[in-house]
Amino acid sequence: MRFDTHTHSCFSFDGAPNATPEAMCRAAMEKGLDGIAITDHMDINRQVEGWGILLDPDAQWKGISEANQIFDGQFHFSRGIELGQILQYPQAAREALDRYDYDFVLGSLHNLAGAPDFSKTNFAEMSVPMMHGLFERSIDDLIGMCSFSGLCALAHITYPYRYMVYSGRGEDFDMTLHYDHLRQLFRTMVEHGIALELNTSPLRRGYDLTLPDRDLFAIYRECGGELVTVGSDAHTLDDIGANIEDAYERLHVAGFRYVAYYKEKKPRLFPI
Ligand SMILES: [Zn+2]
Ligand SMILES: [Zn+2]
Repeated sequence: MRFDTHTHSCFSFDGAPNATPEAMCRAAMEKGLDGIAITDHMDINRQVEGWGILLDPDAQWKGISEANQIFDGQFHFSRGIELGQILQYPQAAREALDRYDYDFVLGSLHNLAGAPDFSKTNFAEMSVPMMHGLFERSIDDLIGMCSFSGLCALAHITYPYRYMVYSGRGEDFDMTLHYDHLRQLFRTMVEHGIALELNTSPLRRGYDLTLPDRDLFAIYRECGGELVTVGSDAHTLDDIGANIEDAYERLHVAGFRYVAYYKEKKPRLFPI
């Protein structure tokens, strides 16, 4: 069984217009997947501050619920949301999450409070200590998010590192300096029953990298971590399921035997 549990539909500000939930399910079935979760962006800071294109949560819920009905019994479909920057507006995040009975909730961090998205951060000209400082703060933020009830998994926990690598600074950044801090994050996740996502997005850009990467899955296991999810972070129909096979292989090598897929916020475990 193969699942892609991190995908964006046309309801996300950066999703492809033709990626309707129904079209996404059909594309996933054609690719031989057994199920997907649609996890549109609910960046709570964006929603509260009102900049850029906002998510219409009612329209999104309606769209994914319609798909859920269409494919009921023939394809595993999980109605999800990617809730970003929770700690910046926890009350609004609570209300947003409690509004609908999402099957799957990804917690994520795209920017620190008052700072731009890591994807728009100028890592190319940044000093190494500053890179470490930003990364450290991002991990603190993720640790804090674990106490927010209702989260199923944390998405792309090394998100800042992706953009360091894309800016050509990956080799200047020694991830091992953060291993103790990441152990603290993993123990907190285990304590709260939150799964760790393997995000495949850099693989389709030609990098031998996942978020997080191999070593960190081994460390997560050492910390008692068992729940893992796999997501492509697709924003187009083409990218659904990208490198999922590779991801399952990597998890198997790291010693995992099951991947989690969520329905009604409860993990169902499928053998790798
Ligand atoms: Zn994200
Ligand atoms: Zn995403």
